[in-house]
Amino acid sequence: MNFSGKTAVVTGGSRGLGRAICRKLAAGGANVVFSYAGNTAAAQETVKELEDMGAEVRAVQGDVADSEAVRTLMDTAVKEFGHIHILVNNAGITRDGLAMMMKEEDFDAVIDTNLKGTFLCMKAVSRIMLRQKYGRIVNLSSVVGLHGNAGQVNYAASKAGVIGMTKSLAKELAAKGITVNAVAPGFITTDMTSALPEAARTALLATIPMARLGAAEDVAAAVAFLAGDASAYITGQVLGVDGGMGM
Ligand code: NDP
Repeated sequence: MNFSGKTAVVTGGSRGLGRAICRKLAAGGANVVFSYAGNTAAAQETVKELEDMGAEVRAVQGDVADSEAVRTLMDTAVKEFGHIHILVNNAGITRDGLAMMMKEEDFDAVIDTNLKGTFLCMKAVSRIMLRQKYGRIVNLSSVVGLHGNAGQVNYAASKAGVIGMTKSLAKELAAKGITVNAVAPGFITTDMTSALPEAARTALLATIPMARLGAAEDVAAAVAFLAGDASAYITGQVLGVDGGMGM
């Protein structure tokens, strides 16, 4: 993958999939600006990893659900590197619970971060990408957004919403050299899934035809494909990265 001369903004780049995505884009030569919620130690580790690879990297703390913070993130990228060619909407959270027990604030928090955060970032880069007549937007959805999951009405709604937004914005921007796609990971080993109890993990494994959890690099490779020039004629699509779960 060749991303030299390109600038990528990745939300939630301090840990997990976001960090692997930053690493993959930087390995291809991209300048990387990533955001994180509050884990400064993890963000500094990502910065060090990328700098050790010889990449240009900037970390910006800020909530993706806050439009001012999103503006600061995008302004930083433009001020430092002049353009934003790639946006990866990766920041996400879970607040699981059965629907009848779910607190309203847990519903709102997940929708705000996962869905509204994705909207705010896409809105902020659209104008920049339109001026350039070039852009690649890749949104992190989930197998749960396609098929649902008990205990995750909030998360499933947010990730199904991400798919609807992906297809809608893809239609708005298709004629302008800007593609908008989503990846739908299955169960990938990160902090988010390490919280699962052992019994749930075993039950999950039984539903994955490839009989293993995915690695962050599996997702990063799919994101990099959709962020690159090899996918120039692909837009509005949802690429499953799930070991066959979603078949
Ligand atoms: P992690 O919990 O490991 O990391 C989440 C990242 O998002 C961190 O960098 C965190 O920052 C950041 N973040 C969280 N909330 C906000 C916010 N409000 N504003 C800015 N940044 C924020 O998650 P994963 O790497 O597992 O997941 C990444 C994405 O992939 C998510 O959208 C998730 O829903 C999706 N996904 C993950 C799957 C999996 O199996 N892991 C499966 C399907 C989809 P900080 O470090 O500061 O907390």
